[in-house]
Parts: sequence; C-alpha cells; structure tokens
Amino acid sequence: GASTSAEHIALADAHAAHNYSPLPVVVAQAEGAWVNDVEGRRYLDCLAGYSAVNFGHRHPELVAAAKAQLDRVTLVSRAFHSDQLGPFVTELAALAGKDKVLPMNTGAEAVESGIKIARKWAYDVKGVRPDTANVVVAGGNFHGRTISIVSFSDDPSARTGFGPYTPGFRRVPYGDLAALEAAVDDSTAAVLLEPVQGEAGVIVPPPAYLPGVRAVCDRAGALLIADEVQSGLGRTGRTFACEHFGVVPDVYLLGKALGGGILPVSAVVADDDVLGVLHPGEHGSTFGGNPLASAVGLAVVRLLATGYYQERAAALGARLRGRLDALLGRGVVGVRSLGLWAGVDVDPALASGKEVCLRLAERGVLAKDTHGSTIRLAPPIVVEPADLDRAVDALAGVLDDLSR
Ligand code: PMP
Repeated sequence: GASTSAEHIALADAHAAHNYSPLPVVVAQAEGAWVNDVEGRRYLDCLAGYSAVNFGHRHPELVAAAKAQLDRVTLVSRAFHSDQLGPFVTELAALAGKDKVLPMNTGAEAVESGIKIARKWAYDVKGVRPDTANVVVAGGNFHGRTISIVSFSDDPSARTGFGPYTPGFRRVPYGDLAALEAAVDDSTAAVLLEPVQGEAGVIVPPPAYLPGVRAVCDRAGALLIADEVQSGLGRTGRTFACEHFGVVPDVYLLGKALGGGILPVSAVVADDDVLGVLHPGEHGSTFGGNPLASAVGLAVVRLLATGYYQERAAALGARLRGRLDALLGRGVVGVRSLGLWAGVDVDPALASGKEVCLRLAERGVLAKDTHGSTIRLAPPIVVEPADLDRAVDALAGVLDDLSR
C-alpha cells in the first residue's frame, strides 16, 4: 500500500477524477487549527475546509455528539420521525430568528432548494406564471456546482461546455443597486446573494448595499435569499454576515460549518409563509435531516448559541486585518476582510496565488488561492493568536523571498 506523500498522490492522480488541482499535501490527521500529513509534517490550516471547519478539526463536543449518535441510530429516512430532528430544527430556527427549517445535505442542495421554494412561493402567493418567474443573482457569485447553479454563474470555468443552461435567472453586477432595481420586477421571485462573496475573493459590499437590496425586494414583493453557506455560522464575527449590515433576509441558506466539518449538513431557514409552500411529496432528500446529521447540527447550533465563536472570530479578525494591512506595499496590493475571513491580493507581478500557496505549504501553512492572485485566509476560529501571527509572518516571508 501507499505510505509516502508521493505514493498517495500518484494513487489519487491515477484513479480520482481530476476536477481539482490540490497542493501536494496528504493529510492524515487533524486537531483544532492543525493538520498533519502522512509523513508527520504539521501545518496550520488557514482554509478550514472552505469554512466548514469553523470550530476546529474534531471539536470535542461535536465528536462526542457524533459518537453518541453512532451508537444509537444513524439513518431512518424522513419516511419516519427521529428523536434528533425536532431538537435540531427547533434550536436552529431560534438561532436564526425564523419559524422553520428545511434540512438538506450540501450547500448546493440548499441553494437549489431555496430557488425551488422561491419559485413555488411566487407561483402560490404572487401568482407569477412559472414560465416568467425569475431569480435575480449577482455577478461574481459562487453558489455551487449543479446545472442550474452554474447556469447563472459568470465564471467561464464553472459554466463553459455544461449547457443547455437552466432558464429563469437574471444576473446584475454585485454592488450595483441601480442595476438590481432595473432587473427586479413583478415576476421576480427572489434576489439570491452572498452577503459577502467568498469564492470571488472575500468581497465585502459597501454598507448601503444590502439594505438597498432589502428595500428593492420589499418594493417588488420579492424574497431576499442570503446564501450564508460560507459567510454564516461565526466566520465573520457574527452568526450571520447579514447582521453586519442590519439586514434580515427572508431566507437563509446554510451549509458547510452546520456539519461542524464532520459530515454534510445544510439547511434552508425561513418563516412559515415561505417554507409553508412546500407540501408532502414536493421536495425531499434521503439523507436530509438524518439522525446523525441532526445530532451534529444540534451540537453546532449549541456552540454558536454561546456567542463565544462569534466574539473570538471578531477579535482574531481585527488582529489578522491589522497584520495583513502592514503587508500592503510589501507584495500585497489589496486586503479585504470581515471577521476571521480575509482575501489578500498578492502583486500578480510577483507570483500567482497558487505559487504563493505552494510556498506557504513549505512553511507549514495551508491556504487556498482564488481568481489568480488572491489568497483566502480563513483558519478555524479556535486558532491561537500567536499561530495566526505566524501564518501572516509566513506569508510575509514568502513575499520577501519572491521579491528578491
Ligand atoms: N454557496 C456558497 C456561498 C459557497 O461558498 C459554496 C461552497 N464553496 C456553496 C454554496 C456550495 O456548497 P457545497 O460545496 O457544499 O455544495
């Protein structure tokens, strides 16, 4: 069998689909903010599974909840009740200040479900004809990889060659309220947005944008759907990124950290006037809301209900931002952040983002590039401040090396 990193990489290269180009790090074990590779090297994880691992790898309370449930029952399907679903949806709804939860599995499923619900809501409540109903989305969006979702992406690599595309979407530039206002009309079921765009490079909109979007939705009688799959659940220093802007969406889409980095758990969270449009048989999932997922999801909600992770992300985020701003002019040409979630634009003349991430890995830091020369830093919220500082020092070291 394989034992070295090179052997594991060769095996994966031979038999796993090449839809990713991973860094040459073969992870074998992890705890908190740290991961070990098969050869015993340690790395600080500054990607945290695209923010699925917000509470750290193998958080003891989440692992305990999962283990306890493994010894009881893991799956019955929604054809029957389980004793785990009720507590999970009750406490998640309360955390979000909404009535109801539709449990699903992946982020993309939550997005697809949100679109279906918005269309059904427009049909039932507004009387919009199904062939004219539209959902307005933003340029630069990332909501997942299904056919319908890539149909409204403007990223050529996500979209090209995957047609025919799903109709019913209108795309306007992110941050442009006038364009949004012009695109939204009586046939608009919903505006679907990331309150902070993650994959685009942690794009934080100006303060007036989301309140303006809310007002446009209210005037047109359209739902505001916030995709908080990546921005939600503590990452930005609040439970939901929308809170920073004083905006309450009609629908939250949650995923990633809802499963605590242990298993896929996603959800659509909304009031009854919206989620109530779904009747038995109209939507579902074999695994959505299963007992194991519900047990872990409930444990995640209870971690968030303490407020500890949100406060810690805010404090660490302020520290990170200060240290990243100090790199401006030293190989860094732009910094954006909200909470413990930063997009760092490296001078493209120095190196590609991928090259910077390769060199960071050599210095024991795992990070991911996005869109050419942007590096995303989003470590688990349990990261120690001194380790966070070391990650920024490593980035500074890499940039100094590249400048020489
Ligand atoms: N929405 C957003 C905002 C995301 O960042 C992602 C994943 N990067 C998704 C949806 C899709 O989630 P999943 O990969 O679990 O389908």
